[in-house]
Amino acid sequence: MRPDEAEQDALPRQGPVRPEVVLSGLARALVLLEATENVRSFALPYPSEAQWALDRVVMLSLLAEEDPPLGLADLLVWARTRPLEEWPAGVVPGYESGTETLLDPRSGRPTDLCHEWAWHAPGAPEDLHHLVLREARKRCSGLGDSTAFLAFHTLLVRRPVLTAAELYDVTGDLLLEPLWSLLTEIYQPASDLHVRAGAYAVCERCGILLTPLDGDLWWCERAGCPGDVGRVLERDQTGRPFQLQRPLRQFVTGPGVIETALRNMLVTSMPGVNVDPHLDPVGDLPGLSVTFPDGGDRWDVRVRDWAQPHLLAAALPEEAWTGHPDTTFWVVPDRRIEAREDYVRAFRAASPGRTGPALMSTGELMRRIAERVDGMRRGALDAGP
Ligand SMILES: [Zn+2]
Repeated sequence: MRPDEAEQDALPRQGPVRPEVVLSGLARALVLLEATENVRSFALPYPSEAQWALDRVVMLSLLAEEDPPLGLADLLVWARTRPLEEWPAGVVPGYESGTETLLDPRSGRPTDLCHEWAWHAPGAPEDLHHLVLREARKRCSGLGDSTAFLAFHTLLVRRPVLTAAELYDVTGDLLLEPLWSLLTEIYQPASDLHVRAGAYAVCERCGILLTPLDGDLWWCERAGCPGDVGRVLERDQTGRPFQLQRPLRQFVTGPGVIETALRNMLVTSMPGVNVDPHLDPVGDLPGLSVTFPDGGDRWDVRVRDWAQPHLLAAALPEEAWTGHPDTTFWVVPDRRIEAREDYVRAFRAASPGRTGPALMSTGELMRRIAERVDGMRRGALDAGP
């Protein structure tokens, strides 16, 4: 099934007027409008999914005795300009988003926040990245080791954009043989939204396609990325490139890029500390295994990158809450916690009564590892020769 078909099927046709359901349906309608390259379309009749969302936002606004949007154009302006806490209270009951909006103010395209609400709100259809990772693990499990799955994950992190020739090579790589048919599904021809003057630009940091803005500027869909241009693909030389579907770019490539940077930082700044990717029995993404020169405890590090902490908490499997909080760390980029001072508190509040797991920023993790290494060195000095 192609992603646009999956998204179409996933949109709610009817249901209770619950704010979370409406917000999630609105987010999916915005994603679908983008998929049809119609996010700026204000013409009547509106696409049915957008009409569904508009009707319910209007109804909830009126029930809350607040001004409703005046039509789809107005609703899209709200989505571009209003953080969640500035929506009528009846539509968005107490969810904060910092300064992040459902549509990016500059590009008009759905943000990370929008995709989180689209696929990870209570009652939302299962996200594509869960389905793909589960299927990939199943296909690789018969091989007896984790090499193929880890290679698959590395490909998705390091090469989210491939030319047609590169995709042809990848789907002939014997190591990835169980996944060839899956790869041809998850890499899709790039949208025209990414092309300017016959060229596609790849983000230097994230490896995904940038979106052209007015004035020769480019925009990266990952929150907080400056969108510096790296590789440039001329369509008349390489043809239309292929790119991973958005849920995989957001929930697999994004945290994977952060994890790779974290790993490189640890290897460079903490000699003797070993950092290896390993299959995580809990999450569907691989994690990092951190071991120390004294051969003591092993730390499990799992990187995620979510704007909305309560949706992150809800997305974690039950087993995630049983890990030991002294050695099992769920890590989000510093900028998420800088954007929301209450990020960790909101994560905890989403699962009251449970102690684990430990959630922290990448900076906090680096500090804890440095303290652990310092303590080890002091212990060695105290013990003497
Ligand atoms: Zn980027």
